[in-house]
Amino acid sequence: MTINSSAEAKILNRVYPGYQLEFKIPASGELEQLRVLKNPLEGYLFTRTGGTYSVDTIVKTPEIRQTFKVGTISDSLFLAGKREQIPATTIMEMANIFGGVIDFILDPRAGDEFSILYEEKYLDGEFIGHGEILASRFVNQGKVFTAVRYIDDEGEVGYYNPQGESMRKAFLRSPLDVFRISSNFNPSRRHPVLNTIRAHKGTDYAAPTGTPIRATSDGRVTFSGRKGSFGNLVIIKHSGGFETKYAHLNKFGAYKKGARVRQGDIIGYVGSTGSATGPHLHYEFLVNGVHQNPRTIVDKLPKARSIDPDQLQNFKSQTAGLVDQFNTLAAQGQKRALLTLAQ
Ligand SMILES: [Zn+2]
Repeated sequence: MTINSSAEAKILNRVYPGYQLEFKIPASGELEQLRVLKNPLEGYLFTRTGGTYSVDTIVKTPEIRQTFKVGTISDSLFLAGKREQIPATTIMEMANIFGGVIDFILDPRAGDEFSILYEEKYLDGEFIGHGEILASRFVNQGKVFTAVRYIDDEGEVGYYNPQGESMRKAFLRSPLDVFRISSNFNPSRRHPVLNTIRAHKGTDYAAPTGTPIRATSDGRVTFSGRKGSFGNLVIIKHSGGFETKYAHLNKFGAYKKGARVRQGDIIGYVGSTGSATGPHLHYEFLVNGVHQNPRTIVDKLPKARSIDPDQLQNFKSQTAGLVDQFNTLAAQGQKRALLTLAQ
């Protein structure tokens, strides 16, 4: 086969395992067409024209279907999602969306309910992958949190409540990522909080050694080392006079003293260094040097960024249909609704 440019020949030199090749060879015996698919949606089509071959790019658009699922927590969020056959990545994304308003280690209770409207991609009727979460609701101990996806005029994707307040908060509720905790560990089976704030000025999260610990907000590491009964300790200073401390670590993350961290960065791993009877994270929250209860202080912090007043009309018109649709599905308690969107 002769290819008429080196750029096109390069495509064939870079055929990786998993690529799908289709040859069209008529009776005459000469290759007429070659289709190379990198994945179900992208590839190249070589077509013989005279003595040589021309190449066309193949780009297919998947059909987007929407799926609506409802789950109830009886043991863990993870298992509730599994029971309803919601992909683990989708459940994880939902936990991230609500990470500023719900502590997924300590807050969920049996009977909590959640619903998710998310996209699935199909090609020629076949499922090829999961898409975005469009809207979600979590009812935690009777408190209702609703989030809808919105793309602002700068193209930024975010999740907001229907009033236009961002779900992303200055601080994460939990310094631990619920999905990094080994799956056989169920915090709700233990006493969830050893929260004797006066005695030791913090919240303890029991978790297996090695569970990653996240910075709950953007800031700068001001201490990373050993310190008495704290054992291995990381202190982060945040703007606005806030400070968070993470103690008894087994190992430190990649951030040394002086380093900048972003919310969600892994700053260490759970351990039992210092005076700790078992592996747990001891987490403290200070405001202008004064200890506060990490579980309640976040409610008293300044309100999260909301949609600009001049963008509010745009936000409402973009999300109103979605909110209506979501509310209707939720009211019907429908487990699954397949709706095919116009492409
Ligand atoms: Zn403690």
